[in-house]
Amino acid sequence: MLHNIDTENIEARGEAMAKAVTACVHCGFCLPACPTYQELGSEMDSPRGRILLMKSVLEGELQPDQAAEHIDRCLGCVACVTHCPSGVEYGDLISSYRDHMRQTGNRPWSLRDWLAGQTLPYRTRFRLAVTVGRLTRPLQRLVPKSLRPMLELVPDSLPEREELPEYTPAVGRRRGQVALLAGCAQQVIAPDINASAIRVLSRCGYDVVVPQGQGCCGALSWHTGNGPAAQRFASRLAKTIPSDIDCFVTTAAGCGSAIAEYSLLMEGHADKDAAARLAAKTKDISVFLAELDELPEIPALRRPLKFAYQDACHLAHAQGVRRPPRALLEAIPGLQIAELRDRDTCCGSAGTYNIEQPEIAKNLGRRKAEDIVATGASAVVTGNIGCLVQIEKHLNSLTDRVAVLHTVQVLDRAIREILN
Ligand code: SF4
Ligand code: SF4
Repeated sequence: MLHNIDTENIEARGEAMAKAVTACVHCGFCLPACPTYQELGSEMDSPRGRILLMKSVLEGELQPDQAAEHIDRCLGCVACVTHCPSGVEYGDLISSYRDHMRQTGNRPWSLRDWLAGQTLPYRTRFRLAVTVGRLTRPLQRLVPKSLRPMLELVPDSLPEREELPEYTPAVGRRRGQVALLAGCAQQVIAPDINASAIRVLSRCGYDVVVPQGQGCCGALSWHTGNGPAAQRFASRLAKTIPSDIDCFVTTAAGCGSAIAEYSLLMEGHADKDAAARLAAKTKDISVFLAELDELPEIPALRRPLKFAYQDACHLAHAQGVRRPPRALLEAIPGLQIAELRDRDTCCGSAGTYNIEQPEIAKNLGRRKAEDIVATGASAVVTGNIGCLVQIEKHLNSLTDRVAVLHTVQVLDRAIREILN
């Protein structure tokens, strides 16, 4: 027997959890890379400590509530996976464990569940929640303390509701057809990202379809440990996206990484194969574009610019995507890319983390903003909506001279000669 975890008694993903805890040799190489270990300096808030805690709970040696505080502090950034020489699949473990705790009634309902499962994935509900939050903000002192961090994050305004075209034809020589993940929260907060993606993809010779009714990909639910809700979203998405496409393109790192985990998420589900087929066709937009043999002509900038690039954890650590976005930015004549001092550490966004763990999220956000300002860049570029929102919030308290942009927005503006 490889381990003491009774996988027979764990309804789903027991083997994945057992494999991860068994692979850990407790070497500690992952500790310096872990943002919560950097912040708190406590073993139980490190990857190694959390693996031990989860193992002890799964083996029945520890009560779930004795581990909960430390498990809840995990950002799910998976920087530990990048730095683990033993190949411990910590990402598979943490999401599966959180879901298992919930299924077994060991994880009480929280604000995070309401946001991730009932609000953010639904555009109308999310808009309504933002309106209510904005109206409530002046009365913050009357609101329970636990809800105040959420009010601080409510944007002052939202762009007009924008429906994406269901079909956009290729411009020039046609190379094929792609489908685009419209997403949920991103389409409310920053619809310009998908609009830029459609323009760039069609300029690259691809028909772009955005099937109606696709909904959320399930990332928010899966990464906060609500497997059944995430499975419902994944099922619907797999049935909505046509199969005769060259690629299913995502513009949010968190969504792309969740889709890459569909085989694990959908274990034992009737739609597992359909979801796995969709996952096999899915690429982040930076990867899809960087793999093309030719990009549209990009005119030289009128004056040189320096932009910093921030790796989104769910691109760099979860999907191993570091080079493609940089290659796209380097293809813009006159654009210099600045690297951050600490490019490996999470900005503290991590889905709904900045609401549940506001102190740690604030420290990480401030560190990231200071790093960006220190580069002297006039903009910071990244590939995930959560990071864009978090970084903008913390940059705003330091400067109003640094713009925050998605990689595909930069490329789109450079092609259209409106970057400077
Ligand atoms: S996922 Fe991130 S926060 Fe969680 S243990 Fe790993 S490095 Fe630390
Ligand atoms: S680096 Fe890997 S094997 Fe070593 S303690 Fe961390 S998770 Fe375990």
